[in-house]
Amino acid sequence: MTKPHEEIMVPSHMDGTGVRWQLMCPGCGTQNVENANYAPDHEVISVQPDRDEYDSPIGTRGGYVSVDLECDAGHSFALVVGNHKGAEFVGVVPRGGQG
Ligand SMILES: [Zn+2]
Repeated sequence: MTKPHEEIMVPSHMDGTGVRWQLMCPGCGTQNVENANYAPDHEVISVQPDRDEYDSPIGTRGGYVSVDLECDAGHSFALVVGNHKGAEFVGVVPRGGQG
């Protein structure tokens, strides 16, 4: 399901300094992306501490934040931000075996 980030992250105007992108569904490219099952934020966002293991959903070592999302066509995926000893990663992976 996953496409290169250039196809799922599009620039989004932001005033002031910094950069921002809008995440699109990696399955169909729509910008209509919601929390999985329309659940509240505290149910779709998880923070995992650094256990020095390679157990993040994007295969990185250390702690990570994961956000469970889905598009209006039902593609289910997670946005993951991983961190370990000075290396930062951002990735999108399918959830629940659906793609
Ligand atoms: Zn989709």
